[in-house]
Amino acid sequence: MKVHHLNCGTMRPFGGRLVDGRGSYFHRAELVCHVVLLEADDGLILVDTGLGLDDLRDPKATLSAQYRHVSRPVLDERETALRQVEALGFSADDVRHIALTHLDVDHAGGLRDFPSARVHVLKEELDDSANPRYSPGQWRHADFVPHEPTGEEWFGFRGVRELRPDVLLVPLIGHTRGHTGVAIRVEDRWLLHAGDAYFFHGEMSAPPHIPSGLKYFQDRAETVRGLRLSNQDRLREVAGQVDVFCAHDPVELRQRQPHRV
Ligand SMILES: [Zn+2]
Repeated sequence: MKVHHLNCGTMRPFGGRLVDGRGSYFHRAELVCHVVLLEADDGLILVDTGLGLDDLRDPKATLSAQYRHVSRPVLDERETALRQVEALGFSADDVRHIALTHLDVDHAGGLRDFPSARVHVLKEELDDSANPRYSPGQWRHADFVPHEPTGEEWFGFRGVRELRPDVLLVPLIGHTRGHTGVAIRVEDRWLLHAGDAYFFHGEMSAPPHIPSGLKYFQDRAETVRGLRLSNQDRLREVAGQVDVFCAHDPVELRQRQPHRV
């Protein structure tokens, strides 16, 4: 299975090194929406979707004023998953399945661009879909497949659901009520897209560290603190055996894009 690591939405919040840990305090920080595109034998699979075409063309319709003013998305159509899928020579209908870490706007925005896809989420996330943090206009017509977190154990994580033998939903509750990671096996190695289970590569180091401004975002966005923190502990433990990365860290994304500068 061929793996592409894509950025499907750059965000440029104020705060400089307080947010991305680099440079001065005064530059606009950089965050990404790390999306994985898998070329399987029987079609394409997306892990998360970033922002979608409609979000960029009419941001006020689906992106809250708070999100637009705090995260400051760049709104570049070439970054959408759809345009990047097309640039690889595929069409929207080639995307058969989408595994979604959660319903936040910078993860679910591209769902409308892939109307033929079945969208795999944890049932708890759909149960909480009336939460005002979400933007139902992004996914009202999605073909959701809810999964109960009652499956196998995988590297010490519980309730893991198999979408196919090489793609698993790994519940990482905390950021939201039904937040999940997505594990992907490529030959003899596992990757784990951890979504927003953490925000900064330094959180996977010993001792873990994160810029204070980004920590403020992370704490404000959490739903179940105890589970979020215990899942982070477990992620740090497996990071040596599994290639773990999160959704918004540009350093982690670039490390996995060897062909790009
Ligand atoms: Zn996010």
